[in-house]
Amino acid sequence: MADQIPTAEPNSPEARDVRYHLHGYTNARLNEQIGPMIIDRGEGVYVYDNEGRPYIEAMAGLWSVALGFSEERLVEAAATQMRRLPFYHSFTHKSHGPMIDLAEKLVTMCPGNMSKAFFTNSGSEANDTAMKMVWYRSNALGKPEKKKLIARQRAYHGVTIAAASLTGLPANHLSFDLPLSGILRTGSPHYWRDMLPGETEEQFASRRAAELEELILAEGPDTIAAFWGEPVLGAGGVVVPPATYWEKIQAVLAKYDILLVADEVICGFGRTGKMFGCETYGIKPDIMLLSKQISSSYLPISAVVANERVVGPIMDESARIGTFGHGFTAGGHPVAAAVALETIRIIEERDLVANAAEQGERLRNGLAAMADHPLVGEVRGVGLVAAVELVIDKQAKTALEKPGLLGAAVNKALQDQGVIGRAMLDAVAFCPPLIITAAEVDAILTKFRAALDTVASELG
Ligand code: PLP
Repeated sequence: MADQIPTAEPNSPEARDVRYHLHGYTNARLNEQIGPMIIDRGEGVYVYDNEGRPYIEAMAGLWSVALGFSEERLVEAAATQMRRLPFYHSFTHKSHGPMIDLAEKLVTMCPGNMSKAFFTNSGSEANDTAMKMVWYRSNALGKPEKKKLIARQRAYHGVTIAAASLTGLPANHLSFDLPLSGILRTGSPHYWRDMLPGETEEQFASRRAAELEELILAEGPDTIAAFWGEPVLGAGGVVVPPATYWEKIQAVLAKYDILLVADEVICGFGRTGKMFGCETYGIKPDIMLLSKQISSSYLPISAVVANERVVGPIMDESARIGTFGHGFTAGGHPVAAAVALETIRIIEERDLVANAAEQGERLRNGLAAMADHPLVGEVRGVGLVAAVELVIDKQAKTALEKPGLLGAAVNKALQDQGVIGRAMLDAVAFCPPLIITAAEVDAILTKFRAALDTVASELG
């Protein structure tokens, strides 16, 4: 077993990892065979493994390290706050400076007319909290039957029991006895994969909106509280919405008085080439969920930002009951909040949203130039996030016999070239730090083409 990774010394970090550590999102038995890749340090867009090998982190860790791996100002912000007040909370009428400053910053910078921010520690907690807020609000409004939530296939909203139930990916449900009841599922906006022959993007978007309306009518509009969506689906394959999609979806939701929750955990803070995905797609959400790039992931923090339509009834209900009985010990942690404020300051000062738009265009154009490669089925993306769907048969849009095999092979070849991407079944994703330069984008492109060629020649 494990302590038996064939190549590792018994007390090496690899062997001890296998012995003591259960990984998230990992085939645990396979990990016993091959051991982990141990990342030791980071600098700019690079990380280095424990043998000193450099890799361009073309996924910004988990879509999240906006400022790269060595931003000294974030270290300073954390140390300064740690010395001044290392912990305080927001229960029972308490507060502190970084939490107040961050709440003000988020409420004023989010699009739409937002009212208040509530702090959580992860994207999953933000999603769970938003679900509870939506239910609490329906009760406050005297509509206890208005509780069902609509989420999409391929959605990713996290892994806690409620958030995993919103998630529309089989791996997050299988053997966990999920999803919970009360979550309705509607189709994903994956035009390339789900289009009918000859269907335009606009026709496809109309079809998805019509399906949504049918679902709402079949269930009863008064039973549905909210619709959940990432502006661009991330972990479900970097699925960019087709033309007119959000406009049509929002029209249906408005017709039946259904709240719109925008999960901006990946899109937020510049990823799509604007500060928020909602701005890129003209989305007017009632609730926005923020995390990841908010602190460049140097420390865990997330937020639920909601408008008065949501917050007003919740405040009234808290007065009726005597408290809003929800909150996390570390929610709005002062050190994490200070790091988040400094991250946002840097993104604004250095205009990294514009850099994301510019370098993103370079990346997407470079990937699009590989469209005639025999393994490339579709190149998609927006701003500084992109994916390449790999196929063996371009016409049938199919890869190898086992889904995910081709994606894993190309991603592995890419890693051997010194670039960390992410395979989501047979799509390879790119989501590098917002600080990336043109030369670093070009290096990703060169190495990705080499990885495609390697796998193509292996397949014969
Ligand atoms: N929502 C979205 C859109 C995400 O991409 C993720 C994580 O990737 C989450 C929620 C869950 O965040 P966390 O892993 O911090 O719980």
